[in-house]
Amino acid sequence: MHSFCLGGHFQLPQMLVGRILSTCRRSVVSSGIKPCFNALRHCSVTHNKAGMGERQSPVDLTGAVKSDLPPLKITFKNGPDRDNLRAINSGNTLHIDCVGQIIGKLSGGPVGDSDYTLQQFHFHWGDNAGHGSEHTIEGKMSSAELHFVFKNEKYDTVGEAVNEGDGLAVAGVMIKESDNAPDNVLPELFDVVPKLKTKEDKSALSDSLDLASALPANKAYFTYLGSLTTPQYNECVTWIVYKDEVEVSSKHMTQLRKMKNTQGADILNNWREVQDIAGREIKLLSE
Ligand SMILES: [Zn+2]
Repeated sequence: MHSFCLGGHFQLPQMLVGRILSTCRRSVVSSGIKPCFNALRHCSVTHNKAGMGERQSPVDLTGAVKSDLPPLKITFKNGPDRDNLRAINSGNTLHIDCVGQIIGKLSGGPVGDSDYTLQQFHFHWGDNAGHGSEHTIEGKMSSAELHFVFKNEKYDTVGEAVNEGDGLAVAGVMIKESDNAPDNVLPELFDVVPKLKTKEDKSALSDSLDLASALPANKAYFTYLGSLTTPQYNECVTWIVYKDEVEVSSKHMTQLRKMKNTQGADILNNWREVQDIAGREIKLLSE
């Protein structure tokens, strides 16, 4: 199973970079990027109008309609290859490939009877606590945002799924930086971040890592149809963004900001600006 570069670690031909910079001015796009075969092989023709579609992400989650849907079910358990789970500095983010190592499942809620399987998770953050999330809630940014990326099981590969409107589901968790947070969100992961200083650095993760610990206690969430937030911005994502933030300590957030990209600069502000909602409905589920 190939990993997929949703976390932002793309290398684009120079001719494409200008186009992308026009829609994403974040420094992350212009630096520290490497080949993403999926995006280029499958999407360069049909998705060259990067960011020009009708269901782009992220968005400001405002004006949501209270809705009823079947219960959303997200579960995680260790997989047969769990010993090989690694946290990686991708050059653009903190990235963890999960296939075979953690069996994550998503069904119900906005995806109904479809079954989705966890592929990877990664983070977006800012250069200070005041911003860093991709989605905003009623105009408010959070300090960071965690994305769990799931693939619809009806597609064999992520490369196939990113060309389908129902290809991926991403569960987003808003992170609030707090001086006094108790360090109970993925502590095994944050403990190894100082070992991930430069691109391609990786570190094994303790098998006590509990991904469910990163979800807020209150499972109310927003959902809408959107896109990847990194090139080629494929409109393939059913977004699920939890309404409540989880708190991560300033100590842990500071460690993220010390990770370096290919040029040796700090990885900062690896988030995309909010996009036009373009008439889409945002649902709010109280769970
Ligand atoms: Zn993301």
